[in-house]
Amino acid sequence: MTDKNDSIINTKLQDAVLYEAPLPENSSGSAGLITPPADAAQEERDVFYMRLAMAQARLAASMSEIPVGAVIVDPSGAVIAQGCNRTLTNHDPSAHAEMLALRQAGILQARYRLTDLTLYVTLEPCIMCVGALIHARVKRVVFGAYDPKTGACGSMFALMGDKRHNHRIEVKGGVLYPECAAMLQRFFKERRKLLKAKKLSPSALSAVKQGHPVKGARRSEDA
Ligand SMILES: [Zn+2]
Repeated sequence: MTDKNDSIINTKLQDAVLYEAPLPENSSGSAGLITPPADAAQEERDVFYMRLAMAQARLAASMSEIPVGAVIVDPSGAVIAQGCNRTLTNHDPSAHAEMLALRQAGILQARYRLTDLTLYVTLEPCIMCVGALIHARVKRVVFGAYDPKTGACGSMFALMGDKRHNHRIEVKGGVLYPECAAMLQRFFKERRKLLKAKKLSPSALSAVKQGHPVKGARRSEDA
């Protein structure tokens, strides 16, 4: 990617007020140009980008959001967009990491069909995100932890592979699975401890789990 493209990306990023976190920088300090070694095998590249998605997930955790992060990579290997779960922060049920990254990629590239891009996300996408990824005609999706409760790439729903869709997305799951899953488990363990410390009654705890606000406790929502 040229310097001109780099400056276009940075200018558009400044305009994209939806997203606060800057794109990762490479060793020369150029945002959006971070890439794995040129001779890295696909498997190594997937791990490389999943670690960037995990950095986004940590950002979500720092905002008391369920830690899920995503990055989008173009055919040259440059990270062009990223997102972390912000449903509580944005008061937006659609503000999943994948959705925010897709929106950012669309704005940057001034198109909504993202046919040549790969999305990396730390948790198996839900039905909403799979729907958006199919609409966007994304080429490839790589995810970390499997989600037996809401995953739509085969764990709970097999939406991604449904033959009735007119677009096929190449899917790879389980990249850095132990690390991605451990991050989520740590988050929920900490939250349970917090709720216990607040001495919530079982009914209040149940209300929190269902996403209803309870005095003295942060609201809980699904990632
Ligand atoms: Zn989702």
